[in-house]
Amino acid sequence: MNFATIAIHAGVEPDPTTGAIMTPIYQTSTYVQESPGKHKGYEYSRTHNPTRTALQNALAALENGTHGICFASGLAATDAVLKLFRPGDEIIATNDIYGGSYRIMKKIFEAFGLVFHFVDMSDISNIESAITNKTKLVWIETPTNPLLKLIDIEAVCNLCKEKKILTAVDNTFASPYLQNPLDLGADIVMHSVTKYLGGHSDTVMGALITSNDELARQLAFIQNASGAVPGPQDCFLVLRGIKTLHIRMQRHCENAMKVAQWLENHPKVGKVYYPGLLSHTGHELAQKQMKDFGGMLSFELKGDVYEQAVRTMERLQLFSLGESLGGVESLCTHPASMTHASIPKEEREKVGLKDTLIRLSVGIEDVEDLIADLEQAID
Ligand SMILES: *Cc1c(COP(=O)(O)O)cnc(C)c1O
Repeated sequence: MNFATIAIHAGVEPDPTTGAIMTPIYQTSTYVQESPGKHKGYEYSRTHNPTRTALQNALAALENGTHGICFASGLAATDAVLKLFRPGDEIIATNDIYGGSYRIMKKIFEAFGLVFHFVDMSDISNIESAITNKTKLVWIETPTNPLLKLIDIEAVCNLCKEKKILTAVDNTFASPYLQNPLDLGADIVMHSVTKYLGGHSDTVMGALITSNDELARQLAFIQNASGAVPGPQDCFLVLRGIKTLHIRMQRHCENAMKVAQWLENHPKVGKVYYPGLLSHTGHELAQKQMKDFGGMLSFELKGDVYEQAVRTMERLQLFSLGESLGGVESLCTHPASMTHASIPKEEREKVGLKDTLIRLSVGIEDVEDLIADLEQAID
């Protein structure tokens, strides 16, 4: 089956008791048993819930995997992956990963004895030189945030397979519509479902997908034993959201490309970071590894004056100032004062993050209105 058909049908069966075409919200904590131990596969909703099961199956299908495991947030999903490891185990992660992923690694799991190395994965030799005989996992995030750097998933997975190291890919920015890491050799895909999968900025959720039965067993054990599960109402909202994932992503990509091209030709705009532009360092790799180039982009204003970026963002009307992404409505973020403010200016500049960098999550509004909004704000 092709993606659009999977998005609408996968995991969802008519409800066996009534025939309801949409999976009901099974708002229940427990299930009545006929006699002790004799039940219909459901005992307690931390362990299993029919609405969650439908969503987990749908997510597995969207990523061409066999097991989907949902969590109360993207970070709860990352937490479950990190709990697969033991003190002394080493993990190599992308150096410009999502701030919350960096925080859970450094501030939570380092204290439990896991050892982290953060490297620039756009050059694969950096991973090779960080590998030791204790390396257990390579954690990839691509495209990265906020500079949209590309990492070659297949090349990294090939290197790790040789050395029997697991690979996990945070696929939040791309969504399963654009990129399927399991097909490129990854062991685990992680999503902040909060973003494109949910798609309507109304739910916080995370998910892991794998085709490895043993990993799935361990992760489902952690899901139940640690208990960070999403509720049935949220599962219903995401089941509803993913039915339009392909259509939304097509429009996100179309709009982002037009906005990126318009920005690139604006005299007051400096560099534009969008994998769809020929000028982007990861353009060729994006063409190889992604179906299209996504809805996220960043740009700088010429002159690099902090106050100018702030003023531009204050003047934007349609792009709301906020920290999330992936919803139908457009959002803008100022990394230097928001997501990356805790990093000193000199450090920010070392990784190429300027004070006037503005990140956009381009929504699915009319693109001419979005460009008009940017025009009045920049001028
Ligand atoms: C938002 C986000 C996360 C964290 O997900 P939550 O649902 O907010 O816990 C992880 N990775 C990326 C790339 C994200 O954008």
